Amino acid sequence: METKKKDVRALTKDQLRDFFVSQGDKAFRGNQVYEWLWQKSAYSFEDMTNVSLETRQMLEDNFVINHIKVDQMQRSSDGTIKNAVRLHDDLIVESVLIPTATRTTACVSSQVGCSLDCRFCATSRLKRMRNLNPDEIYDQVVAIDNESRLYHNRPLSNIVFMGMGEPLMNYNNVLKAIDKITSPEGLGMSPKRIVVSTSGVPKMIKKMADDNVKFKLAVSLHSAIDEIRTSIMPFNATFPLSDLRESLQYWYAATKNRITYEYVVWDGINDKRKDAEALVEFCKFAPSKVNLIEYNPIDDGEFQQADSKAIDMYVSVLEANNITVTVRRSRGKDIDAACGQLANKS
Ligand code: SAH
Repeated sequence: METKKKDVRALTKDQLRDFFVSQGDKAFRGNQVYEWLWQKSAYSFEDMTNVSLETRQMLEDNFVINHIKVDQMQRSSDGTIKNAVRLHDDLIVESVLIPTATRTTACVSSQVGCSLDCRFCATSRLKRMRNLNPDEIYDQVVAIDNESRLYHNRPLSNIVFMGMGEPLMNYNNVLKAIDKITSPEGLGMSPKRIVVSTSGVPKMIKKMADDNVKFKLAVSLHSAIDEIRTSIMPFNATFPLSDLRESLQYWYAATKNRITYEYVVWDGINDKRKDAEALVEFCKFAPSKVNLIEYNPIDDGEFQQADSKAIDMYVSVLEANNITVTVRRSRGKDIDAACGQLANKS
């Protein structure tokens, strides 16, 4: 019976070096192969032209390269690109390239589906199938970097973990992917240009602080009133606002980083003055920034973006309390590539 070949990219550089030594070869060969796998994103052992034919065959006999494959690429009229990405086990995730005048941002997925059940989010309609591996996350970034160079003549500048999944529920793999993205042996990107967005998993936010991570954090808050938040983000019953706030206090004490909140204002749900005032109360413990994001309707139409009067009310209440606020427009809506619209429609 043929034993299942191992994914060569699951090996660290040291493990790869050890492997070559165990084969009676030089450890240095491990560095060469590692460079092909990560810096040059090789799709096959055949591509590794400075490695002997014999060694390539030996690698072929022992390993596979489980590279992702961009199955379908859609381009929006505003320059946004959405990739449907096929994984080695034929599951699909989506990632998005978002260009603006000054930056190109990759929005990447961390899980296939999602275990949370935010009622306004299209991804919640899929059940969580599995976590992505570090290399599956890394590959999404490389694919978008290539598209950015090809279609927008510039490399990728920023990454947000705002695609499918809850990154803090796949924390170890997200961390490993970010290590690779920021390492000079990978893409060499600055961690300051990476944002991990979370619905708020208090234990993991504290862990991030303890791990002294250098990337940025954004919290999808949407309501600072437990009853309302639980009705739209049911896991809030398990991780209530008091726990979330306590973990953010811990994060702030450790990092001194301003806290960024993502917030959608919906008609009849969180559009009253008392909602904005609760948000101000919640934010008080640390310098904060609130991004009021536009709602991207998902099929069933249960949620509706509040009118501009409600948005203006939020802006004035927040500004009066010295909280930075931005009003953000979504991009890529014509191809269902905007926040919360990723649901593998294709
Ligand atoms: N699970 C993580 C990351 C994925 S969601 C998180 O919750 O942060 C990325 C962002 O899109 C979150 O702020 C989320 O609340 C928001 N979002 C989800 N569905 C949306 C929709 N239909 N319209 C606008 N934003 C949405």
